[in-house]
Amino acid sequence: MAVNSEDGRELRSFKFKDEDQTQEVRAVERRILLETLANELPPETVRFSSKLGKIQSSENGETLLQLTDGTTLLAKIVIGCDGIRSPIAKWMGFSEPKYAGYSAFRGLGVYPDGQPFAANVNYIYGRGLRAGYVPVSPTKVYWFICYNSPSSPGPKITDPALLRKQAKELVNNWPEELIRLIDLSPDETISKTPLVDRWLWPGLSPPASASKVVLVGDAWHPMTPNLGQGACCALEDSVILTKKLANAIKSGPAAIEGALRAYGEERWPRVFPLTVRANLVGSLLQWDNQLVCSIRNNIVIPKLVRLGPVLEHTNFECEPLKA
Ligand SMILES: Cc1cc2nc3c(=O)[nH]c(=O)nc-3n(C[C@H](O)[C@H](O)[C@H](O)COP(=O)(O)OP(=O)(O)OC[C@H]3O[C@@H](n4cnc5c(N)ncnc54)[C@H](O)[C@@H]3O)c2cc1C
Repeated sequence: MAVNSEDGRELRSFKFKDEDQTQEVRAVERRILLETLANELPPETVRFSSKLGKIQSSENGETLLQLTDGTTLLAKIVIGCDGIRSPIAKWMGFSEPKYAGYSAFRGLGVYPDGQPFAANVNYIYGRGLRAGYVPVSPTKVYWFICYNSPSSPGPKITDPALLRKQAKELVNNWPEELIRLIDLSPDETISKTPLVDRWLWPGLSPPASASKVVLVGDAWHPMTPNLGQGACCALEDSVILTKKLANAIKSGPAAIEGALRAYGEERWPRVFPLTVRANLVGSLLQWDNQLVCSIRNNIVIPKLVRLGPVLEHTNFECEPLKA
């Protein structure tokens, strides 16, 4: 990993394995991850482009799902993994996620003849502004820019030319390779996302499941991306939930509600502290005070921070799923 300041000065560079033998980074393109997971399933298992419009309980304990194309489905078990604006979470009584005061531009630089970077995660820290990039394949490099916009994230923008322009304006005069990455990103890969989270306070927040409906991933625990753990936690949730459900289904339908509750109880101590920690880390990284940023760049990052303990949260052993 290499951490640089906005003027291109290297603040610190290290290998994960030198800091902590258990650490490594793997950058995966979202599309590839989703295709890989979907391809493991029998054909026709996933019905794409099925947007949930309405959900309601039915009298026999099943759940009625109404899709926006008019189709209705009667489900014995519903696993809501429908992201930060989850209609299922809303139906279960969860509040809207809260805006953290900063937003992110993201994109994927494409180099058809091969990208020029080493297998490094690169961060660049400015004031109230930070960026990063990491190769995700021999021809593609993911990049992001996080910037403060405290009062509101501003209007939703879909015009790729405007998104690209705004992203470039933020990092004008920053290292040239970042600007080039933005230029090399196809329109459809560039997006802007307001960063949000929801803290699952015990006693105040509803549990992860109600009857035979359960939440997974961002639908349950949206977190800011400052620890790079949102998707990782969604995958962990899935493995733990699968194990609980597989055992319950073997024991009969009566065990299912208990299994969903047990999943929520097991996962809460993992996801709640991570959500809080990600938020606090974000507040530190988005500092814009000149003196504080100077101390961060000249003392804290180069001399004080030991990365092993800081990255300890990435260690989680799901144990393999058995057939
Ligand atoms: C800037 C940024 C950087 C990030 N970096 C990282 C990182 O480095 N590492 C990491 O682990 N995580 C990272 N994350 C977080 C990660 O993207 C999310 O945690 C992850 O995508 C959550 O997965 P999910 O399946 O729960 O939700 P999503 O990926 O949001 O998927 C939800 C799905 O539900 C669908 N859906 C929504 N509404 C409906 C509906 N009404 N009916 C049917 N379907 C619906 C959506 O179309 C989508 O396909 C980052 C996030 C951001 C914003």
